[in-house]
Amino acid sequence: MAGNLVFIGVLNGTLEARDLNSGDLVWEFQTEASRQGGDLGAVLYCPHAPEEGCACRKPAPGLIQEALARSGFTAAESLVVGDDRRDLEAASRAGVPAALVRTGKGRKTEMLLNGAPVPTYDDLAHVARAILEAHEHRVT
Ligand SMILES: [Zn+2]
Repeated sequence: MAGNLVFIGVLNGTLEARDLNSGDLVWEFQTEASRQGGDLGAVLYCPHAPEEGCACRKPAPGLIQEALARSGFTAAESLVVGDDRRDLEAASRAGVPAALVRTGKGRKTEMLLNGAPVPTYDDLAHVARAILEAHEHRVT
């Protein structure tokens, strides 16, 4: 994990939906991230069905809590970026600030939030830029 930014992917049960095993899922996610110039420290996913009532399927906070534990960052030092209300709720339950991106389901989610105060960005690149700019202002 390079520098002091760690990106961890957190997914809900996409295994059944995409007919992948867990190794394939992690590999696919890592590959897509690096194709876009990203570097994921870990990929965490919920392997359970919704009716199993596990602690990790978003909006449960389990995966975000695990990501915090693995990264060594506090909740306040972290940011959950998502396109779905379940992402924002999981962040809230874990006490981590959240941001919404307008990619994926994000535009629909933005409409559903109806003006609720969640920082919203066009895409992940804009989120990354905002984080870096805020960090520059802190250190200078
Ligand atoms: Zn689960």
